[in-house]
Amino acid sequence: MASQNTPAFNKILYAPLAEIDPEVKNIIDKETWRQFTGLELIASENLTSQATMEANGSILTNKYSEGLPNARYYGGNEYIDELELLCRKRALEAFHLDASKWGVNVQPYSGSTANFAALTALIQPQDRLMGLGLPDGGHLTHGYYTAKKKMTASSIYFQSLPYGIIPESGLIDYDKLEAQAKIYKPRLIICGASAYPRDWDYARLRQIADKEGAWLMADIAHTSGLIAAQELNSPFDYCDVVTTTTHKTLRGPRAGLIFYRKDLENAKDLEKRVNDAVFPACQGGPHNNTIAAIATALKQVASPEWKAYAKQVVANARALAETLVGHGYKLQTGGTDNHLVLWDLRPIGLTGSKVEKVCDLMGITINKNAVSGDASAQVPGGIRLGTSALTSRDMREEDVKQVAEFLHRAVQISLTLQKEAGTKLLKDFVRVATTKEEGKVGYEQVSQLREEVQAFAKRFPLPGVDTQNLQRPEGLHEYH
Ligand code: PLP
Repeated sequence: MASQNTPAFNKILYAPLAEIDPEVKNIIDKETWRQFTGLELIASENLTSQATMEANGSILTNKYSEGLPNARYYGGNEYIDELELLCRKRALEAFHLDASKWGVNVQPYSGSTANFAALTALIQPQDRLMGLGLPDGGHLTHGYYTAKKKMTASSIYFQSLPYGIIPESGLIDYDKLEAQAKIYKPRLIICGASAYPRDWDYARLRQIADKEGAWLMADIAHTSGLIAAQELNSPFDYCDVVTTTTHKTLRGPRAGLIFYRKDLENAKDLEKRVNDAVFPACQGGPHNNTIAAIATALKQVASPEWKAYAKQVVANARALAETLVGHGYKLQTGGTDNHLVLWDLRPIGLTGSKVEKVCDLMGITINKNAVSGDASAQVPGGIRLGTSALTSRDMREEDVKQVAEFLHRAVQISLTLQKEAGTKLLKDFVRVATTKEEGKVGYEQVSQLREEVQAFAKRFPLPGVDTQNLQRPEGLHEYH
């Protein structure tokens, strides 16, 4: 509360958001409504906890603390030091790591910055690295480039060569990767993906890396929550460095972590290299509010309930996959081992962009995604679906089967709309999906399904929100 002596120029510091900035408050309210009334199937998203949001929105945002615990460039960091040490300890515990063998830097602002800092720590500018190609499920930060352009810092400042999947099975082609590495001689091999529904053979990757004298780094951004729950293979048994985001299956705030081996005979300085790479090489002051939120999320990850959550995420993904396969659809690799499903729409003559658009209109959030053999990255032939967020809204297999039925209907409606559009152009498709036209049924079907999806979604709670008393905000988009 302001004091009696608070000058007018400071009164603003004490006013709540709704009073001082109704415009931003309204945008937040609309987004809350969208999350409540929709179904979130973006595989890289999740719904973090109330406690994480509280910590993330805390007063810790005020503090500068460049450096590391007990070695800062600013004063007043006694509690920030305590926080960062606690967060590190929890990170190691969450992943069942021995503190004499592994260390962790908890300061990366996000997954991309964690990856660039890891590359900075491990290799020199213009050294060669290999990562899974983007069209095969890899991430931009694993060396992605096109014929015309070096797309990310990982290909601008380093040389890179992608490895890929076996087109028929959709599985990583380890034999070919081995043969490529033998010729290319990378200094670093990156494993991990953004769109790969199966587990990784880290032992095989270690063998390949050792043969060529390369570092092995796993980016487990997507699957870290499942790895922490020991529902997937552990990269920690084989890799030198492991990076992750904290906001996907791990269900924390938006940030990154870098784990590094402390016991490598030939790289005793790895800890220093990683820490120096994060700050000062790639970042400035840590976001202490975020570090508090990571710590809170990691406490949850180390709890006995976490395993049950992770098991349910995977069971839900399997139920989703099985229902879609039951309808005769084609999935890349035929199913899933983790939280995501890659749906190949090409056999039914649809593009990912069209289905993404139709789903958006009905409050089902998904993303278009390349599938094996796609000619164009601009018009991918598939979509990616994930079950982490639905599971955080209490959904179990039966609910997810219902979601799969909605998706089936969305795809069938897309086929109708494509016919009614008369061309294959996305703009004509969007026109018939969003405007009532004489003698056409697709538009009505979209509206009908939207109502059903919203009624279904509203049955489930949303973490951090009192949905019982949630008011429909002003100014919503016509589809919400
Ligand atoms: N690594 C992988 C495998 C990812 O899937 C992502 C994001 O989707 C990232 C890194 C980048 O994370 P951020 O968006 O937090 O920078």
